[in-house]
Amino acid sequence: MQAEPALVSGLIEVCRATIAANSDHLCALDRAIGDGDHGTNMQRGCEAVSAERAELSSLPLADAVEKIGLTLVMNIGGAAGPLYGTLLMELGRELRKRDEGAEFSLVLKQAIDAVAKRGRSHAGDKTLLDVLYPVHAALAERSPLSDIAIRAERSADQTAAMKAMRGRASYLGDRSIGHIDPGASSCALLTTAICHYLGENHSA
Ligand code: ADP
Ligand code: MG
Repeated sequence: MQAEPALVSGLIEVCRATIAANSDHLCALDRAIGDGDHGTNMQRGCEAVSAERAELSSLPLADAVEKIGLTLVMNIGGAAGPLYGTLLMELGRELRKRDEGAEFSLVLKQAIDAVAKRGRSHAGDKTLLDVLYPVHAALAERSPLSDIAIRAERSADQTAAMKAMRGRASYLGDRSIGHIDPGASSCALLTTAICHYLGENHSA
């Protein structure tokens, strides 16, 4: 399937701009329960993808998505790099395997499960999975894009009540409770940005 070049390029830019605008906030969240680098890690990854925008836009969609995943692994670093990278690489591979009309929610579910496997993490562990699973559920219910974005934001907020079971935040034990997970927050910000962009530019 050939992606619409403008769509791929537009999505890359909107994600880059969203992370750049929220980098300090993500670092502040990570300072509270981690090492304070999540915003800069994500920004580095998004800038690297953005630098490849012209080439990525010329590729078939599955190839572009998989390549974005690889670039994220190589540039985000930390724990989030391999996890966001796995999400996109698996998404690309699953998109390639499936027929054109395949339900996107099923494709996304496979990719999220791959992230869970990579991180040896589950729903409720206070990670980006606590946004990804609800986003998948909203997609599977065919919720409108605006509702998917709201669900993502609410899910990120709900990680504040959770005790971290994975990653650096888990070293804090109960002291991780009361803080929003930085990875869940970046995931909600990206989901919201993508939903808004698609709503405005790709009303199918
Ligand atoms: P690091 O923790 O190496 O500094 P980042 O700060 O960039 O990396 O990313 C931290 C985020 O990564 C966390 O907020 C959490 O959402 C996610 N994370 C960390 N470890 C795991 C894991 N094992 N499974 C899923 N997500 C994880
Ligand atoms: Mg960190």
